Amino acid sequence: MPDVTERCSVAVIGGGVIGSTVAWTLAEAGHRVTLYTDRAVEQSTTWVAGGMLAPWSEAWPGDSGLLDLSLASMRAWPGFAARLEQDEHRVITARGSLAVAADEGDVADLHRVMAWLEARGEPVAPLSRREARALEPGLAAGLRPVFQVQDELAVDNRATLLALRELAVRAGATIEQRRISSLASLPQDQVVVAAGPWTSELLPALRVRPVKGEIMRLARRSFSAPPPRRIVRGWVRGRHVYLVPRPDGMVVGATQHEAGFDTTVTAGGVRDLLADAEAVFPGVADYAITDMSAGLRPVTPDNIPLIGRVDDRTLVAAGHGRNGMLLAPLTGSAILAELDGQPLAEAAAAHPRRFA
Ligand SMILES: Cc1cc2nc3c(=O)[nH]c(=O)nc-3n(C[C@H](O)[C@H](O)[C@H](O)COP(=O)(O)OP(=O)(O)OC[C@H]3O[C@@H](n4cnc5c(N)ncnc54)[C@H](O)[C@@H]3O)c2cc1C
Repeated sequence: MPDVTERCSVAVIGGGVIGSTVAWTLAEAGHRVTLYTDRAVEQSTTWVAGGMLAPWSEAWPGDSGLLDLSLASMRAWPGFAARLEQDEHRVITARGSLAVAADEGDVADLHRVMAWLEARGEPVAPLSRREARALEPGLAAGLRPVFQVQDELAVDNRATLLALRELAVRAGATIEQRRISSLASLPQDQVVVAAGPWTSELLPALRVRPVKGEIMRLARRSFSAPPPRRIVRGWVRGRHVYLVPRPDGMVVGATQHEAGFDTTVTAGGVRDLLADAEAVFPGVADYAITDMSAGLRPVTPDNIPLIGRVDDRTLVAAGHGRNGMLLAPLTGSAILAELDGQPLAEAAAAHPRRFA
């Protein structure tokens, strides 16, 4: 293990939420950081995301490792958001989430999720039809509400990314827009690869694959029903849809396909998203579509990210799958702790050596 207790020069590769958080965290701690990023900000996965911080309603029975990691990061989010919001950036767009089902099969699936979370003592509360209608009057009449989580948050992913980059620069980091094709050619003492779905191009021994997700942004018009005030997670005949509030509308996501690096927005993707969103919240039909995009979730074989040291000079912070926004604060702290030679116990499950 190198002597890295001295502040050192660090190259961070990747300017999405993960690389930008790492760059900010390390620069604030006194490291000399250069953030390299090759694509325009709009081409990162982070720009496309929905912005849910939803460790409980994203959880799946049995995935305790990912849930524990997500909860550790969720605990850091209020302080993280407060720092991002210091200078005019408005990051948090909603608090609380509702999980609703369209048919019997969806109800059964959601009950399984709720039972598992309750058995772990997590803060999920059953939700009656009357309570759901009182909280969100725009929900479809025939829906079957199952549970709510008051502590989940939604953030504006784009405002978050811009704020992170600005704070990184203010803390002393330099941003260079260029593609890195060889880690050996970089002059810095230490290198952190945070290249999202492109990570395996730089570190072929680590398996991070792209999983395509299509998503749309809708704006409220003068006569539209108001958007939901909480995140609404709908399970609609076996498919999942979510509505994430924004001040002027909502984000509706997301499809999920294994399609390599393809980011085409397909007619079928638009059709499915709109049909499922309307089944949950009929008022969406009056909204204007302002943006349709597709992004590539960086996914590892066990759905847990790769955060930690790969060799004496190289660290990785990648593979955050469906939860990169949520896991950003923990990732920044874990990479700083690794550089300081004192790995964070909370991030142990994400260490890349588990695949060695
Ligand atoms: C449709 C969709 C919805 C989502 N919704 C949510 C959500 O609600 N909540 C949540 O927590 N997560 C969500 N996610 C997941 C989240 O968006 C990702 O986990 C996260 O954005 C990954 O961030 P990243 O920084 O690792 O990757 P990216 O944002 O893709 O950034 C990688 C960066 O690396 C750069 N790069 C790559 N290779 C090189 C190279 N060789 N040289 C220089 N630069 C390089 C790229 O230019 C890019 O800037 C969603 C994802 C999708 C697709």
